[in-house]
Amino acid sequence: MSASILVVEDEPAISELVVLNLLQAGHRTMVAVSAEQALSLMRETLPDMILLDWMLPGMSGVEFARRIKADARTRAVPIIMLTARGEEQDKITGLDTGADDYITKPFSPRELNARIKAVLRRRAPMVAGEVVESMGLRLDPATHRVSGNDQMIELGPTEFRLLHFLMTHPERVHTRAQVLDHVWGNHVFVEDRTVDVHIRRLRRVLERTGHDVLIQTVRGSGYRFSAHAES
Ligand code: CA
Repeated sequence: MSASILVVEDEPAISELVVLNLLQAGHRTMVAVSAEQALSLMRETLPDMILLDWMLPGMSGVEFARRIKADARTRAVPIIMLTARGEEQDKITGLDTGADDYITKPFSPRELNARIKAVLRRRAPMVAGEVVESMGLRLDPATHRVSGNDQMIELGPTEFRLLHFLMTHPERVHTRAQVLDHVWGNHVFVEDRTVDVHIRRLRRVLERTGHDVLIQTVRGSGYRFSAHAES
C-alpha cells in the first residue's frame, strides 16, 4: 500500500520522525509547517491522507480540518490527527470536526502505520489496493484484471483507472473536474470533455457483459457509479 501523505506539523523533530517512518512504510510524503502552508500545497495536489497536528501556530488544526471538510474538492481526504497525551477534549472536537481517527503523541512507528492502514482501507479503498466488486463486475488492482460475470474484460490504462476510481467511490455524483483530479492527477491540462470520451470508451467495453448501466450520467452534474438502476 503506497499513499501520498501530507504531514502538517510545526515541530521539526516530530515531523522528521513521522516522514522517515512513512517513507520506510513505502508512502510518499509532503510536509507543511502550518495549516496555511498545507492549504496552499493542497491547491496544487490532493494527498491521499493528512496527518494533522492539532496545536499549530496561526490557523489551528480544528479550523484547518473544518475547511477541508467544508470544501467539496477536499472533503474526501481522510484526516488522522496527532494530539498530545490526555487532551480528551481535543479528540472529541477533532472527531466532531470530521477527523477519521486520532493518535496520541508519543506514538510508535508500528502504531502509526497500523492507524494509517486502517483508515486508508476504510476511507480510501482505491489507495489500499483492495479488490472491488459490484453486480458481478470485479476489479483487482494488484493484477490489473477486470472481469464481468467471470469473463475477462480488456481495458486501456486510463479506462482502468477511471473504473477503479468510480467503483471505489460509488453512489455519489462526481463532476468532470473531480474525475480529472483523481484519475488524471491535479492541474493537468486536460479538457473536461476528455472525461466524456473515456467514459464513452469504458461503457462500450462494459456493454458486452451488461455492466455499462452501472456508469450513469447525471445531467448537468457529472457521473455516478451505482448498483441501482436509474429511475
Ligand atoms: Ca504543534
